[in-house]
Amino acid sequence: MRILLVEDDRDLGPAVAMGLRNEAYAVDLAATRGEAEELLCANDFDVVCLDLGLPDGDGLELLRRLGTDPHLRPPRRVIVLTARDAVDDRVAGLDSGADDYLVKPFDFAELAARLRALARRADVREAVLAVGDLRLDAAAHRAWRGGTELELTAREFSMLRYFMHRPGEVLSTEEILEHVWDAQADPFTASVRVILSRLRRKLGEPGPIATVVGAGYRLEAP
Ligand code: CA
Repeated sequence: MRILLVEDDRDLGPAVAMGLRNEAYAVDLAATRGEAEELLCANDFDVVCLDLGLPDGDGLELLRRLGTDPHLRPPRRVIVLTARDAVDDRVAGLDSGADDYLVKPFDFAELAARLRALARRADVREAVLAVGDLRLDAAAHRAWRGGTELELTAREFSMLRYFMHRPGEVLSTEEILEHVWDAQADPFTASVRVILSRLRRKLGEPGPIATVVGAGYRLEAP
């Protein structure tokens, strides 16, 4: 995932950029609105983390231009980072097209968690997902356990991808149904169990997907 961090604070900017690189993101840092616009003309970013108070202009103005200026390549997602914690400013940020909002001072761990949440949304370009000894390349439609490639049908693949986006979480049959089957399909919840049992068989032992009685299923995250 490629991130543009727009932050003019000389300490905070480099520190956050370094933290994000340690989380294995590709990060470009811009200290002014002008620098940010230059980078947005030339690159496709998955996420822009945008400070609102910039030395050469308002981040909100840049946010609005992302939707209208044909020279700028709009990122898939925008998180606004700002010391302005008034309700009006949050509303203005969200109205201008931000997907999320983080008030300074924030914990780096919280920013990292918000970015993971954005990455899980379907339209962000996915890197290879890895949970335990499972790996999944969404773009190439390939998955592996250990070094062995799994031969999955499209539906089994979608189900595994959904589990791998939410490792350690209990997913109900209804949630799986909603996320793995599209609106055109007319499945019964029984078909979730059928596909799941096939997927489990292909994943082999020890089975990484546990049944949580009365609640659903969980991909064990080591
Ligand atoms: Ca600032």
